[in-house]
Amino acid sequence: MKRTLIIGAGGQLGSELTLKLREQRGTDQVVAADIRPLPAELLTGPTTILDVMDEEALRKSIEYYDIGEVYHLAAILSAKGEADPIWAWDLNMTSLLHVLEAARAYALKVYWPSSIAVFGPDTPKEKTSQFTLTNPTTVYGISKLAGERWCEYYFKKYGVDVRSIRYPGLIGYKSKPGGGTTDYAVDIFWKALNGERFTCFLEPDAHLPMMYMNDAVSGTIQLMEANAEDVQIRSSYNLSAMSFSPEEIYQAIKTLIPDFDIVYEPDFRQEIADSWPHSLDDSPAREHWGWDPQFDLDQMVRDILYHLREALPQT
Ligand code: NAD
Repeated sequence: MKRTLIIGAGGQLGSELTLKLREQRGTDQVVAADIRPLPAELLTGPTTILDVMDEEALRKSIEYYDIGEVYHLAAILSAKGEADPIWAWDLNMTSLLHVLEAARAYALKVYWPSSIAVFGPDTPKEKTSQFTLTNPTTVYGISKLAGERWCEYYFKKYGVDVRSIRYPGLIGYKSKPGGGTTDYAVDIFWKALNGERFTCFLEPDAHLPMMYMNDAVSGTIQLMEANAEDVQIRSSYNLSAMSFSPEEIYQAIKTLIPDFDIVYEPDFRQEIADSWPHSLDDSPAREHWGWDPQFDLDQMVRDILYHLREALPQT
């Protein structure tokens, strides 16, 4: 059986997706690749240091490990991208084209994530539909929108089986976030458990679509395992799970940790948040391949605090 290659496996999403796929398919079947050394929990299976910008190295890895499927997760995220827009554009676009060209050459199935960053200030904010105005104002959003067009292009023109999801903010507790506008909703848990005041870089009422990592991982695998004819959108699917503001997640945590305190010091990331939808309509994903998220805000908060408490040294 051909193997799966995860590029960007050391990241927030990649580390959890790699572990889940190894659990389901066997450790040896899933190769974890990243430009930086991988975390210890991924070293139990095949791993490789790979710069996806090096097209020859990518193809050598595909041949060496006998790869049939690629999850291409490496990217520069929204907040980090604004600090160096040309670098973000180059990495996000060139790496995707390397993967899509390799998919043509080696008949690979491809997963590539898009983002709610494809939407812009003139997009309707509530229950934003799958097909609506997309005029992004960040380099990250511009690169994700262009990437969606490339994915559909390779599917229609070359028959590449490429699948994609527009993730909302992803919230996990197992690794540090990579420089996105929704990272506050990850950092807040660590401060709460350490008994520290949390300084939030968004305003209290900045509502954004969000998703617990467990749902993101299972939805991603579900899309990749769906029958090809059910995957009717080959640009990228809207996917919704929950929507909340910093004040709402703070209150949900405070119910369980009553002493927890927060202050608001919005920075440039508030402007990015202002350009994104508040909530999404994901009915095509539900109808086409059965997307059905399991976690709402309260369930997610309880689950994260339960697991983080277990992981923290007891005093
Ligand atoms: P992350 O920054 O945590 O991880 C990205 C990984 O890619 C890192 O481990 C990094 O070392 C690696 N990488 C960077 N450059 C590389 C290169 N040249 N070659 C190989 N590896 C390289 O990001 P994440 O949060 O895990 O996001 C994964 C994907 O999901 C990205 O495409 C991102 O745009 C998308 N996404 C994430 C979120 C979110 O909230 N985290 C939301 C929407 C979309």
